[in-house]
Order: sequence, then C-alpha cells, then structure tokens
Amino acid sequence: MTTSTNKTDIKDLTREQLASWLEDRGVENYRAGQILKWIYSRQADTFDIMTDLGKEIRELLSLNFTINRLDKIRIEKSQDGSRKYLFRLGDGNHIESVLIPEKDYYTLCISSQVGCAQGCRFCLTAKGGFVRNLSKGEIIAQVRDILKDPIYSKPITNIVFMGMGEPLANFKNVVGSIDTITDADSGLGFSSRRVTVSTSGLVSKLSALGNETRVNLAVSLNATDNRTRDFLMPVNKKYPIEELLDACRRYNLRPGGKITFEYILIKGINDSAEDANRLAELLKGMRSKINLIPFNEHEGSDFRRPEESVINNFREILNKKGYTVIIRHSKGQDISAACGQLSANRLANSK
Ligand code: SAH
Ligand code: SF4
Repeated sequence: MTTSTNKTDIKDLTREQLASWLEDRGVENYRAGQILKWIYSRQADTFDIMTDLGKEIRELLSLNFTINRLDKIRIEKSQDGSRKYLFRLGDGNHIESVLIPEKDYYTLCISSQVGCAQGCRFCLTAKGGFVRNLSKGEIIAQVRDILKDPIYSKPITNIVFMGMGEPLANFKNVVGSIDTITDADSGLGFSSRRVTVSTSGLVSKLSALGNETRVNLAVSLNATDNRTRDFLMPVNKKYPIEELLDACRRYNLRPGGKITFEYILIKGINDSAEDANRLAELLKGMRSKINLIPFNEHEGSDFRRPEESVINNFREILNKKGYTVIIRHSKGQDISAACGQLSANRLANSK
C-alpha cells in the first residue's frame, strides 16, 4: 500500500476493507460508502469537508489515511488534441497518462507499472526496464485526477490500460483499480464495456482476468510465427502463440464480446502477405477484431513503419476473409504520446 507520512492512501482499500476497518473502531460500516462517494463523486481532497460524517470520524480518518493525488509535473498538448500528463509519484518515480480525443468522447490511456519487465524489442517503455508496480491508489489517481481537470469539451468515457507497464504482471492492483473505476455506486462509475486491458500475453493470468472483471481484453499478438514473436516479445518463449491463443479461446467473454488482437506492423519483420494470411488462419473461429498499429518510430530503434500501400494490403487480405480490422493511426506522435513511446522516467531524468 502507498503510504506518505506513514498513513495509508485510502484509495488502496476496497470498500469492504474500509467498512471492516471502520467497524473494528466502532463506526457503522455503511459510512464507507459515504466516504468513498466524497472521494470519487465529489473529488474531496480532505476528510474535513465530509461534513455529514461527524467530527470524530473525520479525525479518525485524518489520523490514519491520506487521499493522495499525483503531482502533475507537465501536460504536453499535441496538434491532434491529445494531451500527455507527466506525473511524479510519492517516491520520485514518474509515469505518464494520455488523453486521446475521439469524435464525441475522450479515451484515457493509463499506466499500470513504472517501466516494464517484458522487454519487447519495439517498445520504448521496455528500454528503461522494470522499476515497480503502481499501487491501486496510484492507478485510480490517474483517472480521478484527470477527471478533475476542467478542460474538456467532451466527456471521458473510455479507459485503456495501454500506457506504461504490463497490467497482468500487476494483477491484484489492476483488478482492484478496475473495481473502483467501474463501481457505479461508490467509485468512478465507468462502464466495464468501456474499459480495456491490453496484455502482451501473460497466459497464467488471463482466465483470472475474465473471471474477476467484465472489461474488454486486448492481446498484443504482433507476429504470426513463434520465431518472429520470440524475437519481438520475450514473453513468447514462456507462452508461445498456440498456448496464448488457446487461452484466448477459453477466455470468459461477456455475451457479444470480442477480443481485440493488436498487431504492430513493422517493415520487413511481420508485414508480409503471408503474415496476413497466417494471422487470418490463427484467429479462425475466434470472436475477435484486429487492431493494426503501424510501428511508431522512436530514437533507439532501427525498426521502420511500412509503406501505406503495404499497410492497406495487409488490411485488405484480412477484410476479404471477413475480419473486422481497424488501423490505429496513433495520435499524439508529435509529443511522443503514441503507443510504445512512453518512458516517463527517462524523460523526467533527462531534464
Ligand atoms: N503492456 C501491454 C500494454 C501497454 S503497450 C501490452 O503490451 O499490451 C500498448 C500497445 O502498444 C501494445 O499493443 C504494444 O504492442 C504497442 N506498442 C508498443 N510499442 C509500440 C511502437 N513503438 N509502435 C506501435 N505500437 C507499439
Ligand atoms: Fe511492456 Fe507492453 Fe512495452 Fe511489451 S509492449 S515492453 S509488455 S509495455
């Protein structure tokens, strides 16, 4: 749990944990809901303002808990309307979150770890290595703090765990944060249908995600043969493509739900017509859609993005076989906020 001055960030607790903590101290457990409503619906920063609680309870809470916000260091604005937030955590580490404008709403892309241990060859986050997991409170704070920013012309309705880190490697805190983010009564009230967890394919945690949450699953497949996927994503050596796709077939999808397969297109590596055909074979019979992400070039990588004609051809092949394909032309590239371009610690340290 996150502590500052030895107090616990109250956002780290579940409603049940808070209720039983209160009960142990002779406070009615229904007060937990009241407190959480202050924090999430009313954006309270102190216990003092929770005037319907009674002075003693407020003092008890202040003595033991904090309601942490993240330290917002910088907001970069892209020409396309994306905004990248650089946050400093209590221990001096940094993370980034990105707000992405869609037609009628915003999608908020959040981080689950400082750095990442998965070491994918195409990803800038991987370069800094793994530092630590984010606490539940720190994950939620990205959403709560940005919701408080009064700058939006349209609502923030969608949340994607596609920022820094591998969400399933921080399973407990990610699932805990999802509970709060999607709790309509005493949480942030997002619809589970509008929350997506993206994973590089940690098979051991997949079924638990399906059983413990109702959010959307996105899987970063990125290659169609094990040799190429081993090269791009070390996780494939542990959980090769067949095992990953078997787990996806068994995944507890909600009725009408589909798994999104993300596929980075890298010039000369995984962008051939044979790859497109193999991808279609691999996903046969699966309730899926495909998200093609032309590689976002960054310093320190020799990989290149394929020509437009190659990207379109890849899509055509999949379309002809009946797949739903979206080409995700990443936003925020001018501010390095696109997929795989987040590396907050490195940025902050280089200043
Ligand atoms: N760790 C999780 C979620 C964060 S990465 C995962 O890997 O799924 C989010 C997405 O960005 C993944 O689909 C990943 O494959 C993609 N990505 C990473 N680096 C990229 C780059 N340089 N260009 C395009 N997409 C990239
Ligand atoms: Fe980690 Fe995802 Fe980047 Fe791979 S692509 S290194 S899993 S953040």
